[in-house]
Amino acid sequence: MRVVFSHANFFFMRIFLSLLFGLHICLISAQSDEAVLQSFYTTALEKQQSYKWLGELCAIGGRLAGSENAAEAVKWGYETMKEMGFDTVYLQETEVPHWVRGVEYAHWNNLPLAVTSLGGSVSTPQGGMLAEVVEVADFDELDSLGKIGQIEGKIVFYNYPMKQHYIKTFHAYGDAVKYRWRGAQMASEYGAIASLVRSLTNRLDDFPHTGSMSYQDAEIKIPSGAISTIGAERLSEYLKINPRGKLFLQLESKHHGRVVSHNVIAEKYGARYPEKIMVLGGHLDSWDLADGAHDDGAGCVHAMGAAKLLLDREEPLKRTLRVVLFMNEEFGLDGAKTYADFSEDEMHVLAIESDAGGYIPRGFSFDTDAETLEKIRTFQPLFLPYGLFEFTNQGSGADVGQIRGKNIVLGGLRPESQRYFDVHHAATDVYGAVNARELEMGTASLAAIVFLLDTHDVIR
Ligand SMILES: [Zn+2]
Repeated sequence: MRVVFSHANFFFMRIFLSLLFGLHICLISAQSDEAVLQSFYTTALEKQQSYKWLGELCAIGGRLAGSENAAEAVKWGYETMKEMGFDTVYLQETEVPHWVRGVEYAHWNNLPLAVTSLGGSVSTPQGGMLAEVVEVADFDELDSLGKIGQIEGKIVFYNYPMKQHYIKTFHAYGDAVKYRWRGAQMASEYGAIASLVRSLTNRLDDFPHTGSMSYQDAEIKIPSGAISTIGAERLSEYLKINPRGKLFLQLESKHHGRVVSHNVIAEKYGARYPEKIMVLGGHLDSWDLADGAHDDGAGCVHAMGAAKLLLDREEPLKRTLRVVLFMNEEFGLDGAKTYADFSEDEMHVLAIESDAGGYIPRGFSFDTDAETLEKIRTFQPLFLPYGLFEFTNQGSGADVGQIRGKNIVLGGLRPESQRYFDVHHAATDVYGAVNARELEMGTASLAAIVFLLDTHDVIR
């Protein structure tokens, strides 16, 4: 074919080329952040790597700190991250309690009620106990009944529901958790022989929800458990009919002292500022009643999946990325405290965790100064196409909250919270309760925020 370069042709070609070049420049500069974010969401949703890892982790089962399953999860985390392209992967020793749940059973005149021990509770006497129950609405009622001798020798039943009108269920949890945390200690001061707390869930169902509790400096430690919400409603009805009736309660468990466990840590050194550290974390332990899929298997695979998206980019991060799978968030924050002690002299500039479930992400919460938050908020429009809009200054998370440092930005992924307490710390927190797409949206969101904060030097 003969091409004639007439003057007119040359003119049009120049316009065409300059348009193409202009478009190219335009694509590189204006597309960059949007394009990177789009690639994160696309890869996460198409490959579903976090969801696959979650399946492997949940197959181990419940991972209560100190248990064989927890040790197995450490091994899994280490071996999986070894294959991901980090510069180094290692274990960090930390001591954790080893407490084992035994037989759990309750009935009222042979009508069974679903109960479970709170973590760290002492055991009921062998064979269980049979005693009168005193229902209280709150600590005020406990005090007034305690002062007139109505608590002594009885089982205290805190029937305090999570408030349904709070839009964020974490606020309702925060309001009600005191009865689980120090209900036993308060009741024992008035001579109670055991305490039961209405399960911390927004649902009315028959699954008891466990969780941590503390005896503080109580002189006498009494067994402490949770009763399902349906069980709580029934027990309350039985007590109205027969206030002097007796409850049979068996909550067996055993303390085996403290044992050695591990945090699992993986690092990719930063290309420009290797001394500056950005932590992405979740906690590897869970309660023992189920797989701990949402709490906090989701957080572990969020952190790992986000790291994979960031590591697979051609362009390296400027700062060091460190994934930390913390051990024993649930039962004393041992791993997080150990990590904070060991890394005291390091320069942490960012630490974000995911420990609010694998539900659809709504945004992030930060613990930082107002000026930095304003800068972070300039990224908000980039997340709107993916349904994330929350950029609040309402804390971070329990594990990364232990890390202290000058100018560190702490953060937490904030998924939708409406269904979280349906499964939290109960037998229902299983792999099947996690939606693959919702989980992967969280993974991509974490990768996106780390990428933006690092690339645009919003963090130090
Ligand atoms: Zn958790």
